[in-house]
Amino acid sequence: MELKLYNTLTRQKEVFKSIDKNKVRMYSCGPTVYYFAHIGNLRSYIFMDNLRRVLKYNGYELLHAMNITDVGHLESDADEGEDKMIKAAKRENKDPYEIAKFYTEKFMIDLNKLNISMPEIICKATDHIKEMEEYVQKIIENGYAYETKDTIYFDTSKLDKYGVLSNINVEEQKAGARVEFDKEKKNVTDFALWIKAPENHIMKWDTFWGKCYPGWHIECSAMGRKYLGEQFDIHTGGIDHIPIHHENEIAQSKGYSGKIPANWWMHCEFLLIDGGKMSKSLNNVYTIADLEKKGFTAMDYRMFNFTSHYRNKLNFTWDSLESAKIALSRLKEAYRKHANGEENVSEEIINDYKTRFHEAINDDLNMPQAMGVVWEIAKNSTKSKKFAELLLKFDEVLGLRLDEEEKIDLPEEIQKIVEERIRARENKDWAKSDELRDILNEKGYTVKDTKDGMKVTLK
Ligand code: AMP
Ligand code: ZN
Repeated sequence: MELKLYNTLTRQKEVFKSIDKNKVRMYSCGPTVYYFAHIGNLRSYIFMDNLRRVLKYNGYELLHAMNITDVGHLESDADEGEDKMIKAAKRENKDPYEIAKFYTEKFMIDLNKLNISMPEIICKATDHIKEMEEYVQKIIENGYAYETKDTIYFDTSKLDKYGVLSNINVEEQKAGARVEFDKEKKNVTDFALWIKAPENHIMKWDTFWGKCYPGWHIECSAMGRKYLGEQFDIHTGGIDHIPIHHENEIAQSKGYSGKIPANWWMHCEFLLIDGGKMSKSLNNVYTIADLEKKGFTAMDYRMFNFTSHYRNKLNFTWDSLESAKIALSRLKEAYRKHANGEENVSEEIINDYKTRFHEAINDDLNMPQAMGVVWEIAKNSTKSKKFAELLLKFDEVLGLRLDEEEKIDLPEEIQKIVEERIRARENKDWAKSDELRDILNEKGYTVKDTKDGMKVTLK
């Protein structure tokens, strides 16, 4: 079946074709590890994982690299503001490497909780300074860069066209440009490749141009090339990467080899909170830990993400997360009912569902539509193991762990009744056991006695 993916570069959905048969080489811009990832950041990695799973469902093998930005880059994408890593180091009174290590670990824990499958290659910027240095030197050699007092800039006027991804009008940009930060910069779209480190700058390396540190964009060009080659299939990121970071990656690659590094550029739209932006001043920058504090799981958040297409904005509210939590619990329950079902269904019905699910995910990852098919199966009044098997097959894409028993933290009062009932059963006091089961039922819990012991779930 054809797989269609929207390509930001051509501004249309195109039938996907990999460079190598059956193998996809893909690069994803990873996190800057200076703080906990918020649920907006995590939306873009759920999208990344969704894409991985859809490619695998279509039979592709993956070679996928994701970077960890552990070299400081400035707060604005456009070479301005404070260095994020160094700011964090000051805030926490640690060295930037400790900051990076700590938040990288936290990020990995979040990915794990969200059941995000790990890219085959995770590459840290600080491990690739040499590769970046060589990349910059080649750009210089090819005549696409110039030096100022303390920065080597990429000269965007040397390109046939700058801004192929966002289709920006460079002339308009020039007219509307603010007073330039660096007066020596020749064009408003030029950006830093290599920067001379001031004396007190913590992260710096001995390089061909003295003690320096890299501009932000070069790490992705250098690592993408190292692990995936001069040209690969897909490059992903958040929508905010389009106008600067990815334009600059393309520019660097053109300056290096004359080529655009990836054939498909795919971007995930932003998560909104209560219809607006997430911001520290509004105190609405939530992390997975914040959701957990309110009794939600990372998987509830994963489920919530499938209510919208990745190219649409998604609005987070606590109510919508609550709905996703209930929906996930119902879906698991429906799976269990099918798994215990004894009825038969025809191959035709199974194949029809299979085709419709596959068509939905292959239509540029249309997850809301795919979930529609999933719910039809879940709600089917015929209870059949074949439906359970089909749901598990689809779960290769959904990653919702439908067959995993829900672990619920029982309130202390309920836990006591459960323990009392266990003792009653050990003493073969069946009357007491039934009485306690009824009490649990009344309090909103379902009790099942299985060969593995008593299972207590929310009704
Ligand atoms: P950063 O760690 O700041 O480089 O961001 C990591 C990723 O999160 C990038 O791909 C951003 O595009 C993405 N991102 C940041 N804010 C949001 C948001 N509100 N919704 C979705 N993605 C976001
Ligand atoms: Zn990047």
